[in-house]
Amino acid sequence: MLTTSEERLALLRHQVREWAAEVRPFALEVDRDPSLATGLLHLPTVALASRVQIPPPYNDRPLSIKGEVFHVTGALERAVWCEEVAWGDLGIGLASPGASMCGVLVEALGSEAQKRRFYGDLLERPTWTMFALTEPHTGSDPASLGSTFSRSDTGGIRLDGTKRFVSNAVRARFGAVFARTGPGPYHIRAALVDTSLPGYHAEPIPTIGVRAAQLGAVTLESVELSEEHMLGSGLSSLRRGLWGWSRVLDVLRPTVAAMAVGLARAAYEYVCEHRAEPSREDAARLARMAHEIDAVRHLTLSAAAAVDRNQENGHLASVAKLRAARLAVSVTRAAPAFFGAGGRIEHPLLDKYARDALAFEFMEGSQNVQRLAVAGALTRGTLDPGAPVG
Ligand SMILES: Cc1cc2nc3c(=O)[nH]c(=O)nc-3n(C[C@H](O)[C@H](O)[C@H](O)COP(=O)(O)OP(=O)(O)OC[C@H]3O[C@@H](n4cnc5c(N)ncnc54)[C@H](O)[C@@H]3O)c2cc1C
Repeated sequence: MLTTSEERLALLRHQVREWAAEVRPFALEVDRDPSLATGLLHLPTVALASRVQIPPPYNDRPLSIKGEVFHVTGALERAVWCEEVAWGDLGIGLASPGASMCGVLVEALGSEAQKRRFYGDLLERPTWTMFALTEPHTGSDPASLGSTFSRSDTGGIRLDGTKRFVSNAVRARFGAVFARTGPGPYHIRAALVDTSLPGYHAEPIPTIGVRAAQLGAVTLESVELSEEHMLGSGLSSLRRGLWGWSRVLDVLRPTVAAMAVGLARAAYEYVCEHRAEPSREDAARLARMAHEIDAVRHLTLSAAAAVDRNQENGHLASVAKLRAARLAVSVTRAAPAFFGAGGRIEHPLLDKYARDALAFEFMEGSQNVQRLAVAGALTRGTLDPGAPVG
């Protein structure tokens, strides 16, 4: 039995890193053909993704490492898991089955029956889920989304709309879809939608980064739902759609920062491993990189710990996400230069890392949106003015 949370986290990190190393050899192949991502269930981090991030009451098969049990539901444990998985390969990490964003929403808004069904299905067999919020013209402004829930001819609920950039939309078995029941932000609701229902259609969008995640464009045409699909039915309108969305972002933002740190580390370590006898100047540059990665990881873990203390503490995570996204872009851009002008061509993994890093600008809110969140927190006095704002 380990005594401190540091020892537990170190054990988790060590084991996930060992598992994640097994993913690396598949990174370029799946980048070329994202449809291969569903055939990687023999890899431990992909297979186990369905058994983590499920709250204890609904998970009787959590991870067990040397006798220690991990549900990976706290922000710190999620950050450690996601940093190491992204170090193995960010794209394959995002393309893995499991509760992911949808799971956090179900935890916040789901009824007891919805939670039992959702988490039970994930534990029964590896299942891909999705979280469909973004629309073609309302990415950073979800309060303006245009998809609708309306009364259907049969007395049920009819869902119509279009979504964009939805991770795993093509391979998901079910997931959360946001739409409005009327005008204004408080009429936004979310429903659990089975992707086999008539009227659901998803197509992959060609991307240059995190290609494995196969971001999808979703069309919803008269998808027939019932009240039992709606999330948050027993809650007040202030605590349903948009509140649920911001809860998901608050809980998961440290994990996005952690993924960016994991990607930066992968690029840095690749250079250290493959650049034989670096010049004194290069060695000094690598030392600065290592120092910066450590500093941003420390900031990210502090932000995760703050969220574990209080889920409303999402602003420090916005700072961490800003810093980590910038770190991932700068390290992955600088890494190929250690190998000369042809670095990106001769080292395809480094080329992929530089493309993947671009995703962090948009994942879980763009840089400017994070800055607005941080500025809002400063104005309200809920963020320490000494915090290292990006
Ligand atoms: C890898 C990846 C995975 C994703 N997964 C999902 C998913 O699973 N589900 C989902 O629903 N979405 C997902 N998204 C979409 C993501 O949430 C959106 O890309 C993001 O919200 C930004 O929206 P947008 O792309 O429409 O950009 P826009 O909102 O059009 O923003 C474009 C630019 O304008 C700036 N901008 C926008 N508003 C303001 C403002 N008020 N002030 C100043 N600047 C502003 C932004 O900072 C940005 O630089 C994913 C995106 C990526 C890259």
